Order: sequence, then C-alpha cells, then structure tokens
Amino acid sequence: MPSSKAYGSSSITFETSFVMNFPLSGTFLTCVTGIIFFAITAAGCQSSAPVQERLSPIYSEYEFDEDLAIQRMSRSIQFPTVAVEDTTRIDYQPYDDFIDFIIESYPNINEKMTLEIIGGHSMLYTWEGSNPDLNAGMFIGHYDVVPVEESTLDVWTYEPYSGEVADGFIWGRGALDDKGGVMSVMEAAEYLIETGFQPERTFYIALNHDEEIGGLLGARRIADHLEAQGVQLEFLMDEGSPIAENIIDGIELPLAMIGVAKKGAVNLELRYSDDGGHSSMPPSLSVIGTLSRAVTRIEDNPMPSSYRGLITQTFEPLIPYLSYRERLAFNNPWLFRRVIERQLSRNPATNAALRTTAGITMFEVGVKENVLPVEGRAVINFRIHPQDSVNDVINYVEETIDNPDITINVMPRAREPSRVSSTEAPSFKVLHDTIEDLFPDALIVPSLFIAGSDSRHFHALTDNIYRFRPIRATHDDRSRVHGIDERIRVYNYLEMVQFQIDLIRNGGVDF
Ligand SMILES: [Zn+2]
Repeated sequence: MPSSKAYGSSSITFETSFVMNFPLSGTFLTCVTGIIFFAITAAGCQSSAPVQERLSPIYSEYEFDEDLAIQRMSRSIQFPTVAVEDTTRIDYQPYDDFIDFIIESYPNINEKMTLEIIGGHSMLYTWEGSNPDLNAGMFIGHYDVVPVEESTLDVWTYEPYSGEVADGFIWGRGALDDKGGVMSVMEAAEYLIETGFQPERTFYIALNHDEEIGGLLGARRIADHLEAQGVQLEFLMDEGSPIAENIIDGIELPLAMIGVAKKGAVNLELRYSDDGGHSSMPPSLSVIGTLSRAVTRIEDNPMPSSYRGLITQTFEPLIPYLSYRERLAFNNPWLFRRVIERQLSRNPATNAALRTTAGITMFEVGVKENVLPVEGRAVINFRIHPQDSVNDVINYVEETIDNPDITINVMPRAREPSRVSSTEAPSFKVLHDTIEDLFPDALIVPSLFIAGSDSRHFHALTDNIYRFRPIRATHDDRSRVHGIDERIRVYNYLEMVQFQIDLIRNGGVDF
C-alpha cells in the first residue's frame, strides 16, 4: 500500500524586489552542476525529511567475512571481461572464467538458487521465496567492462586488471562500473543464505554480460524470458547514481541520488540536396547555407522545458541550503517558474535536466574549394526528457526547420525515455529507508539518470525501477568511470555489501 508523504515546503514572505535581484548565485549553479555529476540530472526527488513510518524492519548487524569479500572483489576485476561494439572481436574466455569463478565462490547461492545462462554469458539466478503470492524483486548488474585505452596504460597507478588492493582502494577496470555492484549483491546473498535467511518474496539476480554494448543478448533476453513466464516484478534495482560527496559548495551532506527515470535518445539526420554547380555563379542559398539555417534554428529554439514535476522534487531537499533569495524562488515556483527555468537553461548541466537537448554532432558537406556541393547532411543527437517522446522530437524538428525540402531521417537505435518510477511506491520507501539507515547523513535525491543501463529492457515487468549504487563518489571520481585509475574505497565496498544485505532483507518481506 502506498504510503502518504508530506513534502512540505516552507513559505517565505514574498518580496517584489527579488525578481530584480535574481540570478542565482554561483554557489547555486555549482550546486546544481554537482547534482548532474556522473551524467545524472535532477528530475525527481524525495527529501530525507518526511519518512513517517518504516514499512519493514531494518537490520544492520551482521558479520560477513570482510577479508574474503575484498579478496573476491579484487579477483573479479582480474577477469578482463571487455566488451566492444564489434562482438566478433570479443574474447569470451574471460567471461567463461568469470562465470566459473562466481559458481566456485558462492557455494550457498549455487546450492539454494537455480542458475540459468542466458544469451551466452549472462547469469540469471532465481531465489525462490516462501510466499508465491508476492511479486518478485530483482537485482541486476553487469560484469562486462569498457576497454582500457592502450595509450593510457602507463598512466594507471596499478595495472587495470590487477585488482590491486592498496592505499585503501580496490583498483581496476570495473571497480565502479559495475563489478562492485555485481559482487556486493552476490556477497550479500551468500551471507544471508548462510545465516538461514529465507525471503518471502522470490528474487531474481541477474549478472549481465553485455550492458556496455546495449544489453541485447543479456538483459533483453532475460527480460523476455521472465515476461514469457508471466513474471511481474515488485521492483527492479539497477546500477545508477552514486552517493556524491563534497560536490556542492555550501552543502556538506552527501547526496544519495536515486535514478527514478532515464532519458531517451534519438539521432536525426537532416539531408538536403540541390543542383550544385560552379562556385563562380552561386545560387542565393547553397546546400551549406540551407543546412546551416536548419541547424541554427534548432539551436536557437530549444525544445520546451518546464520546472514542474520530478525536477521540482529533486530541488526540494536542497532548498534549505540555498541563499535567502534562492530559497524564496524555489519555494514559490508558482510565481518564479519562468525565472527559474531561464536560469537553469543557462547552465548546460541543469539545462539537460530540464528539457530534451539537441547536440549537433555531424556536419558533412563539400568536396572542393570551387565546387558547390550538391548534397549535405547534418546529424543531431537528441537526449529525450521523459516529458517528450521520439515522435515529439521529430515533430519539433519538422516545425522548427520548416523546410519540406530537407529530408529528416530517423537513425537506428532510437530509444524512448523511461517512465518515471514512483517515489510513492512501497519499494521506493524500502530503498529510501535502507539508504537512510546506513547513510543517515545523506540527503536522498531521486534524479534523472542520463547514462544508459540495462534496466531499460525491463519496463514491461515493473513500473518501479530504481537506479542506485551506494558508491561514495567525489568530483574526482567522475573521470574514473570508464577512465583511468578506476577504483573503489575498500570501506565503501564493504558498505555496499552491508547495504545489499539490508536491501534484500527489507525488500524480501511482504510490504
Ligand atoms: Zn555500468
């Protein structure tokens, strides 16, 4: 049953002079940029304040073997399970070895759960619950990693697939994305089975193998497989936003960001051709001029935005930390909405949180200095806000460029934005309370997740998809994801295991 929540926002006396005194301060913009950290944007929010009752007991006392957990995490990194777009170039031996390693490492899981290998190398575990009337819960993560660029090898502090445990960190490709996620769930389940825990709710645990290249073999097939059995999920927990630390001037509390929605994407190709000819007798408008005008119109007329819905909730827990004037505006969006929107639009990061964005990524035209090109093309990469759809984008482009002679082609792999998962669902509350219990000082901020992840394949199975990893991340960590010196703090990895234990326990009961 959904719990009722009161998201109170304190009202502040209105001052007309405020409008003149806006814009937002540098502090605020830094703050907002911080929220977008890790390619996440603000879109929805749950303040840490008004949690009135717990739906389930919280457990935080357990004694799993920390040394063994660290050692296994380190070993998981030592399998170079590298994914590249051209799958014929993938060496699947490390994938096979990783699967063997998982089976050997977690004997309780492999005795208690059933394992299916799907799409060649994705592992789907089913942990039968005691109450078949409950919808299942699901945890997903991926063990494939992006390649390490050859040219950066000597810059790494430790060899990228060494899994070195040093200086308080576990080092290597996948430490943040997403072997920590995969291994912490497995550690938690192994420990819970050992202690005799039996969930009421059935759990699925999926260790996917091709997230970095779209998830079509792993997550997609697992979702189809479950759908064919009529499975409905109460919730799905995926990788996602971190606990961001020290990224906002003026806000010392960490931000635990839960991705409750994800942007879509579509690439549109604009093509235009005419007769070309010699540059000594140019027409009044060339191919280049025509295409340039179209592209300029798109840049000059961004898709509409609105400071409503999820994004307003995201800002809510941050409002108390803003200046008086900023507080006044954000507490009274009915009056200051336009001003807020204008300000947020000026910063690329907050702009991305507010609306569908258009990135002009390709412009191909012209072959010779004195030849007018007969044909040209431009490609625009749209990241679609949940308030829009692929069709909305196409209609907007048609209307905005207003030139029927320009052909608009929808390029392959268009993705609709996700639905926005409820922050009122009981499973959200379970996640919220679990975070709050283990990270009591964190502000819990549901957000719009911009990066891709496997959860997009599961929308037919549940409305409640939450993208979150309790990875403590500073600004410095941002470049380590898919970058150089990827690493996770040892104590933070242990926190992740604790978190997963709590989450499985809290999520495994009837609520
Ligand atoms: Zn990932």
